[in-house]
Amino acid sequence: AHLDRIAAVDGAVHAFLHVDAEGALAAAADVDRRRAAGESFGPLAGVPIAVKDVLVTEGMPSTAGSRILEGWIPPYDATPVRLVREAGMIPLGKTNMDEFAMGSSTEHSAYGPTHNPWDLDRIPGGSGGGSAASVAAFEAPLALGSDTGGSIRQPAHVTGTVGVKPTYGAVSRYGSIALASSLDQIGPVTRTVLDAALLQDVIAGHDPHDSTSIAEPWPSMADAVRRADVAGVRIGVVKQLDSDGVQAGVRSRFHEALALLERNGAEIVEIDAPSFEYAIAAYYLILPAEASSNLAKFDSVRFGLRVTPEGGGTVEQVMAATREAGFGPEVKRRIILGTYALSAGYYDAYYGSAQKVRTLVQRDFDAAFAKVDVLATPTAPTTAFKLGEKLDDPLSMYLNDVATIPANLAGVPGISLPAGLAPEDGLPVGIQFLAPARQDARLYNVGGALE
Ligand code: GLN
Repeated sequence: AHLDRIAAVDGAVHAFLHVDAEGALAAAADVDRRRAAGESFGPLAGVPIAVKDVLVTEGMPSTAGSRILEGWIPPYDATPVRLVREAGMIPLGKTNMDEFAMGSSTEHSAYGPTHNPWDLDRIPGGSGGGSAASVAAFEAPLALGSDTGGSIRQPAHVTGTVGVKPTYGAVSRYGSIALASSLDQIGPVTRTVLDAALLQDVIAGHDPHDSTSIAEPWPSMADAVRRADVAGVRIGVVKQLDSDGVQAGVRSRFHEALALLERNGAEIVEIDAPSFEYAIAAYYLILPAEASSNLAKFDSVRFGLRVTPEGGGTVEQVMAATREAGFGPEVKRRIILGTYALSAGYYDAYYGSAQKVRTLVQRDFDAAFAKVDVLATPTAPTTAFKLGEKLDDPLSMYLNDVATIPANLAGVPGISLPAGLAPEDGLPVGIQFLAPARQDARLYNVGGALE
């Protein structure tokens, strides 16, 4: 049924870069066979899933939205992909994304944009617009995304879906094509909070292949949803992110959701987080710095594309020609920014200062979580904007991430879930909750209560 749905609507939505119909049907038949033979599976066995193209998949193309990886077939599965397969889930294919997960609209994909199923002229968010759109368009019931600065949560906000960035280290990054290693985290994109919890229960856990993977076991997130109760839960509203800069309808839905939680026994507290205003500036130095280093491996020798200048060339010339042809403009912009920020003489002024701001953001979180159990913010300042609207203005594109970035800088978990439609444009609005590191279950408790 999902393959039929993809065939019917993906021409217009373009959520997928690759659909593996044959592999999906074979995997489904295999689960049936193993079940008939008496093998027992968890609750998501037999459920199809879409996989963001940032995760490598054995035998399936994995491009991260870039020309430089066109045609590359990885020899192994990323750990989260291996885990969903082991749980009996059925990977349907790979979803579209901004090139190397750089963007908030999926327009930076080298393979053309994804369209928001709510209004095909609008962006589905980014970088994981393909995963969110596939779930919103009923092409897949669940999807995997990656969130470095909001790429799971912001697409969820603009497509009326649920997106979770788990605690940094909860889900293995092994086989996730790295954008910024200290910020990247894999997580669920779904239609309900319970679905997200069930998926997080499948993909979270220690992996010796990722040195930042948390070794301790996790409680069941699905149980947290089933037992959801906000009586006595203290919810902090971050003053800096509840401002005039937020679209009226996004703000009114946010406050309605808070009022509902209050009626159910939650206590709403105002929180001051002064460093959050500098989080974007710090992120857009730290991310390009890490990305410029991570992307150095796309050198024409080891993976994918190789462009040889006419008449041949030195290794260096081949490398330069390949990177010139293989990377899009946003990727080049960030490699140049990152290389500059890390260069001798500038390191302290840029990267060093950004790291200090990162510490201040972490301290703001620590101070806030001494007073409240979770924080609440609008997930992003506006509903889905029009395709093309911000493409030529990188700064206004970056400003979308104001509410999502602090969580990545501090490594704390965040969820975005639907809070209704904005009255002025009828488009989906998300509400975000943030919890202390390793307290992901609190997000599922509050999210479950609101759903
Ligand atoms: N919009 C952010 C960026 O462009 C988010 C990226 C992400 O989470 N992968 O960097």
